[in-house]
Amino acid sequence: MPQVVLKLNNEIIEKMKAFYQDRMKTAPPGSVFAAKTPDCSITAYKSGKVLFQGKGSDKEASKWGDKNGKSPLKTKQTARKKHAYAPPEGLFTSSHIGSDEAGTGDFFGPITVAAVYVTAEQIPLLKELGVKDSKNLTDEKISAIAKALIAQSIPYSLVVLRNEKYNRLQAKGWSQGKMKTMLHHHALEKVSKKIAPERPSGILIDQFSEPGVYINHLKSERFVLQDNVYFMTKAESHSIAVAAGSILARASFVNEMNKLSKKMGIELPKGASQKVDQTAARIIQRHGKQALGEIAKLHFANTKKAEAYTQKDF
Ligand code: MG
Repeated sequence: MPQVVLKLNNEIIEKMKAFYQDRMKTAPPGSVFAAKTPDCSITAYKSGKVLFQGKGSDKEASKWGDKNGKSPLKTKQTARKKHAYAPPEGLFTSSHIGSDEAGTGDFFGPITVAAVYVTAEQIPLLKELGVKDSKNLTDEKISAIAKALIAQSIPYSLVVLRNEKYNRLQAKGWSQGKMKTMLHHHALEKVSKKIAPERPSGILIDQFSEPGVYINHLKSERFVLQDNVYFMTKAESHSIAVAAGSILARASFVNEMNKLSKKMGIELPKGASQKVDQTAARIIQRHGKQALGEIAKLHFANTKKAEAYTQKDF
């Protein structure tokens, strides 16, 4: 759907409000007003951002942007020219896909990656469900929000790289960056297929490496970057789709950890602390080193530390 975003001052927004008074509709949270003409939806936010969506968005926006000498915020094209893969400002408020991962810094457990498609209309609903950066949420809250997201039939895809395969790829020379690249790519492909023929206005990846490195990893496996892909660090605090991805990835990671803990008969701690080393040592003592390869990322320094622990009382 075509869209234009303008940054306008309060005075103009007040004028707009009067102008569209007969076309008002329910204003979403965080907005000053929302209105609809036959070919354009207009939402003005407290931040001064005004979003025009629909066939008539150019025409409608030009009434306010040009006339008042305000320059439009970066559009997708100009933003891409400036920073090759930086997302355009309007992406966060339009229908887009976001992806994020969990488990990369944890010795025990898999890597999980989730990609989520959120339409512009669903953004207020997701905010209401409490979707935000998962780093600020407890695991309990994360799994409750994840369940709510799934119950709302928000389109998503989740990929899990379990430890045996992780260790096999690592031994073959794959870096964790390459594994993450392929996981994000597959998750994005899957969710794009799910929503087809609908197309998002863009795809935002929570950036874990330089875009060029990501693209080279794809190339090495004969894949190419999808259209309209953007990269941004800390994207989960700007994009609700990435935030939803971070929640689903984390919920899945926690779930996998619970299953592995049950299987091993011992609670597997998250992270890569000394407690992790000691737990790994117990597992080696009880089940042998091979068992560790099924539940842990063996190339982490924790493996050697755990082996040292098995030599002494602890
Ligand atoms: Mg991330």
